[in-house]
Amino acid sequence: MRTLEEAAGEASTCTKCRLSAGRTQVVYGVGSASADLMFIGEGPGYHEDKQGEPFVGAAGQLLNQMLEEIGIARSEVYIANVIKCRPPGNRDPVPEEIEACSPWLQEQIDLIAPKIIVTLGNFATRYVLAKQVSISRVRGQKFTWHGRTVIPTYHPAAVLHGGGAASNQMVALREDFRTVKAALAEQPAPAEEQLGLF
Ligand code: URA
Repeated sequence: MRTLEEAAGEASTCTKCRLSAGRTQVVYGVGSASADLMFIGEGPGYHEDKQGEPFVGAAGQLLNQMLEEIGIARSEVYIANVIKCRPPGNRDPVPEEIEACSPWLQEQIDLIAPKIIVTLGNFATRYVLAKQVSISRVRGQKFTWHGRTVIPTYHPAAVLHGGGAASNQMVALREDFRTVKAALAEQPAPAEEQLGLF
């Protein structure tokens, strides 16, 4: 397997879909290549496209705050999006774009091999769980997906638009981050037990 850096290098010149024509740069991902915790958002917005890093705008500030509240540094986690290039005017990505971009994210997940994946919002949650679920129904729950734990929560941008600091969504977001923290602390069963040797 190649390294994350090698994969990011190849992704930086990707022309697999038409979003390549309008981007400033590919926003591959940021953080620790051996993170236990990985966040997946939708796609780069204006600031992310300019700076080349996911979640650096207002939604990113809220993500940082939530991480700080559970005592985890942004540099310890890995942050990526389903779509690596900004759609014009921040429109929703279309199925061909999602399909073309998908191998980058799949490879990222394989290389990082996080223990827990947090999907931010409906878009990333539906993509990862491959189901038309509603984020308000599944948030804070733990799903097992290809041997990893997936915990969906609200997209920070949706929380900001949906009432901000005092809203029910913010309360839920905080609660979900505590769930994530607790899930990270859970130790996997010893290998022997998993193999059923004892
Ligand atoms: N929203 C996303 O889904 N991703 C980003 O990187 C920024 C905002």
